Amino acid sequence: MSSTILVVEDEPAIQELIAVNLSFAGHKVLRAFDVSQADTLIRAELPDLIILDWMLPGVSGLALAKKLRSDERTRTVPVIMLTAKGAEQDKIDGLEAGADDYITKPFSPKELMARIKAVLRRRAPQLTDDMIAVDGLTLDPVAHRLTGRGQALPIGPTEFRLLHFFMTHPERVFSRGQLLDQVWGDHVFVEERTVDVHIRRLRKALEPSGHDAHVETVRGSGYRFTGSLPSK
Ligand code: CA
Repeated sequence: MSSTILVVEDEPAIQELIAVNLSFAGHKVLRAFDVSQADTLIRAELPDLIILDWMLPGVSGLALAKKLRSDERTRTVPVIMLTAKGAEQDKIDGLEAGADDYITKPFSPKELMARIKAVLRRRAPQLTDDMIAVDGLTLDPVAHRLTGRGQALPIGPTEFRLLHFFMTHPERVFSRGQLLDQVWGDHVFVEERTVDVHIRRLRKALEPSGHDAHVETVRGSGYRFTGSLPSK
């Protein structure tokens, strides 16, 4: 499945190598040579994953990783750090700063792609192609098909992405802004009311099998997908 991946790397040859491999794998690639360019890109569109070089001119990759983790909006974006150093302390510093994984240079593109896949599966299951089932509701990302108790449920593309995100993050409350970032990739140019419109459509799509009750409104906070309904 296609993800938006930001590559922050100041060495043009390495940046190019990574970008080409990601594009070839079907991902959308954003590129930055330093932290300030990365900041600008992240403000415009929240990436699904960030590949971050440790040694950058000016502000270090480590400092950016720490900043991403302390910011509510970017806290959950997976980060893979690139480091030329193999020292144990650097790996520990990177992981403590909130990186999900690190790769030591030089690395093979094949290894990088495998690490990306593993991190996405762990941190952003809505971006993988794994089939997911909750209480008789089954979502198949490959076939783009939804069934409720064996019955095919017609659903629009945005509602499908929204439901995929919900089903892979059950029981957690998400604000409209968070849903815009996670599902639309954009909290700046899309109005929050848009979320309400698509929640309504999603519930409508889930009605035939009675799964609409799983999509809960949490007053004053946002929305939640619950896997277990209170028995009536
Ligand atoms: Ca570098």
